[in-house]
Amino acid sequence: MAYDFDLFVIGAGSGGVRAARFAAGFGAKVAVAESRYLGGTCVNVGCVPKKLLVYGAHVADELEQAAGFGWTLEEGHFDWGTLIANKNREIERLNGIYRNLLLNSGVTLLQGHARLTGANEVEVEGQRYSAKHILIATGGWPQVPDIPGKELAITSNEAFYLKDLPRRVLVVGGGYIAVEFAGIFHGLGATTSLLYRGDLFLRGFDGSVRAHLKEELEKRGLDLQFNADIQRIDKLEDGSLKATLNDGRELLADCVFYATGRRPMLDNLGLENTGVELDARGFIRVDDQYQTTAASILAIGDVIGRVQLTPVALAEGMAVARRLFKPEQYRPVDYRNIPTAVFSQPPIGTVGLSEEQALEAGHKVQIFESRFRAMKLTLTDIQEKTLMKLVVDAETDKVLGCHMVGPDAGEIIQGLGIALKAGATKQQFDETIGVHPTAAEEFVTLRTITR
Ligand code: FAD
Ligand code: NDP
Repeated sequence: MAYDFDLFVIGAGSGGVRAARFAAGFGAKVAVAESRYLGGTCVNVGCVPKKLLVYGAHVADELEQAAGFGWTLEEGHFDWGTLIANKNREIERLNGIYRNLLLNSGVTLLQGHARLTGANEVEVEGQRYSAKHILIATGGWPQVPDIPGKELAITSNEAFYLKDLPRRVLVVGGGYIAVEFAGIFHGLGATTSLLYRGDLFLRGFDGSVRAHLKEELEKRGLDLQFNADIQRIDKLEDGSLKATLNDGRELLADCVFYATGRRPMLDNLGLENTGVELDARGFIRVDDQYQTTAASILAIGDVIGRVQLTPVALAEGMAVARRLFKPEQYRPVDYRNIPTAVFSQPPIGTVGLSEEQALEAGHKVQIFESRFRAMKLTLTDIQEKTLMKLVVDAETDKVLGCHMVGPDAGEIIQGLGIALKAGATKQQFDETIGVHPTAAEEFVTLRTITR
């Protein structure tokens, strides 16, 4: 049977665009449907605008440090509107780049909501298209618990377009987004509380990292409330929001920001017209080659709920394009040792196993840990400490995990990701010459076993 397309991609986000471009580059006839924004979550309401706001908040640190280096500055004034307008301009520029990338690689771009009408058929804006393969890359969407007043809360989607910086913010959640946005709001001058339902935020990260970040955020004056959860939200006459906590306390705010995880985006996708099944968590079930339970349909990225990170969606998109149209170049995605950063202030960089995971996996571990005041701060009164930690297998000497909390942690951890992928040992770390004077060199000069 002749199909309109070899590959029909639903969603022009990180994974979809990568798969579409490479498939077209391998000679396939490809269409992409996008209902909302080119570049998806990462470009529009994720990594990119988030990092721009983090940079904006970080300026406050630089201003605070300036006096130690002899600079006298007029009192600074921050204007949220300017930051958001400049951010929006940059996002529009990136949207244009994504459009050109797709069109220049010969992909047919369809604007509108796509709905599966069969195992080989998609409908967009009333028009039906047939395809040999269909790739679902529809990403995720913020999930807010069903409490009275949830409609008064915002999520990251809205935060990027707030007209004004709220004066008082309650951030709910203890994952990446909650910690990053608490830092953004606090850094830009809002009175900010972070409420997390458990004992300590960032579940799954190394214990030292979690405890260290808690200490540093508190030193900065961020109000951290653990074992706290909102039961209901009410709007008061003066427009403020009143959050009633499960322990009966009432907190007032101008903005309640929820970052309590993301669900797969399956709205009106027409899965019922196909044999695509969901897994126990509600994400699309795929095998190790991203094949769904329907033979002609694949899925990648946040919608399969494996690792919700842009570089992972990119790698999965690439793997699908190669598997379908360039099988001789196919390589499976390696989910081990994925480096990642939380752009909190100070940021976290991490790759490999946490101490807890290493112990749980049965390794006998040696821990090398160091806390120090970064050189840049020595001319200032700021007492912030940087944490660096290596988790080493005591029997093989292999470095199992590298963890950092401190300036530029995300930049530093990328290189260590290569070292771990190459299977580096602690001895090889020790034999590596440091770059002096940097914070990063601490990773090759950690000599004393802490535990
Ligand atoms: P998406 O990028 O979400 O793309 C899906 C696309 O599909 C969207 O454009 C959507 O409009 C479209 N779509 C959905 N349904 C349909 C339909 N039926 N028809 C047509 N189009 C449809 N990751 C990092 O690695 N680093 C970070 O710093 C980082 N920061 C983040 C910050 C925030 C606030 C958030 C929310 C996420 C962040 N992420 C970060 C995660 C990252 O954005 C996602 O992992 C990544 O975007 C997933 O890519 P994807 O292709 O699966 O989906
Ligand atoms: P996460 O899954 O990282 O965190 C969700 C948080 O919300 C957890 O602390 C969780 O608590 C808590 N939570 C879940 N349900 C409830 C509830 N009903 N009531 C109260 N608290 C609840 O999700 P995020 O929304 O922060 O981010 C989504 C994903 O996007 C991340 O996992 C990450 O993969 C990606 N991302 C990556 C970034 C980066 O690379 N820098 C930045 C931002 C996002 P508990 O731990 O107790 O379950």
